[in-house]
Amino acid sequence: MDSTHFYRDTWVEIDLDCIFENVKNMKRFLPEQVDIMAVVKANAYGHGDVEVAKTALEAGATGLAVAFIDEAISLRHGGINAPILVLGASRPTDVAIAAEHNISLTIYSQEWLDEVLKNNHGNTPLTLHLKLDTGMGRLGIKEKGELQTILKTIEENPQIQLEGVFTHFATADEINTSYFDQQYQNFLQMLEWMPNKPKMIHCGNSATGYRFPEKVFNVVRLGIGMYGMTPSLEIKDQLPYQLQQAISIHSKLVHVKRITKGEKISYGATFTADEDMWVGTVPVGYADGWLRKLQNTHVLIDGELCQIIGRICMDQFMVRLPKKLPVDTKVTLIGKQKDKFISVDDVANALDTINYEVTCSISFRVPRIFLRNKRIIEVRNPLLRHY
Ligand SMILES: *Cc1c(COP(=O)(O)O)cnc(C)c1O
Repeated sequence: MDSTHFYRDTWVEIDLDCIFENVKNMKRFLPEQVDIMAVVKANAYGHGDVEVAKTALEAGATGLAVAFIDEAISLRHGGINAPILVLGASRPTDVAIAAEHNISLTIYSQEWLDEVLKNNHGNTPLTLHLKLDTGMGRLGIKEKGELQTILKTIEENPQIQLEGVFTHFATADEINTSYFDQQYQNFLQMLEWMPNKPKMIHCGNSATGYRFPEKVFNVVRLGIGMYGMTPSLEIKDQLPYQLQQAISIHSKLVHVKRITKGEKISYGATFTADEDMWVGTVPVGYADGWLRKLQNTHVLIDGELCQIIGRICMDQFMVRLPKKLPVDTKVTLIGKQKDKFISVDDVANALDTINYEVTCSISFRVPRIFLRNKRIIEVRNPLLRHY
């Protein structure tokens, strides 16, 4: 028994060809000097960190970004040697770990740098990217004085190397660009405060890269677009090339039965059959990330949309079937069957949220199958990982 096995009839498929194409297309689209940093935080938005990272690097990405050190170490354990930047805050006491693994960290305040120096991480060089807050209000330096003190401190400490400077936009995915323009101007001005600029200057997420390729300096932090999802519905029509959704989610009917008019289904007995009908049970529930709010939405079975009836349970839900179907019939929750397709955006709409949240919410208990050239190259089931 190892992590390539699974014993449940529910799985995620990640088509790595889509990831490859999405990155390749972005590389082709961007000005020549612009590199791609593939954002693989949150287990690559729920897709699988190591596999996505390897594919992105093969397709031309030159670096990776994650949210915190553990995610970076996970990539190193997966055999990845490419540069990795931690975008979020790290504890000043953990910089030695980062340096040992050749992981770049984000510096976002003078106070943080002082703590880092107090902790003296030894002789291993520590690489940093300086985060400027131009209007996101999350992490970063805003004042000229603070910036200058930081630059001076870095100059005096040769074990610390400033490799990059960056900011993040709050509204790059909105049609109205006024706040974006303001943030961009702030960034230009703050860069003026730096007489010696580091090698990498970056401000673009996916949306910025697609819409303002001439404004991204020399790196784009490509996240959502790499997975083949649009940064927002607002700019769906402004994308420079067709994105290919890499994820699909499938299950199988595990039980099929006939119920008669008046019979009820699931917790709270909220569904009452208005006629005699066939009902199937699907072994997916809210603990897999298929949230209770998806009651009454549809899944694909035998190429047809079938409604989820009654409350979604922790591990299972029930669907109304058009006819008697055999146990083991494939159920597609996200993805394609015959001529019908359920996108991540369809699910996000039903949940009143964004596509990012949908894929990030698919939990660790759903095994991931990775396909390359239409063939399975790997299966990951964290539940059966050896410790
Ligand atoms: C998550 C993140 C990105 C990626 O954004 P997408 O919209 O997914 O392309 C880029 N930069 C920072 C700082 C992030 O936190």
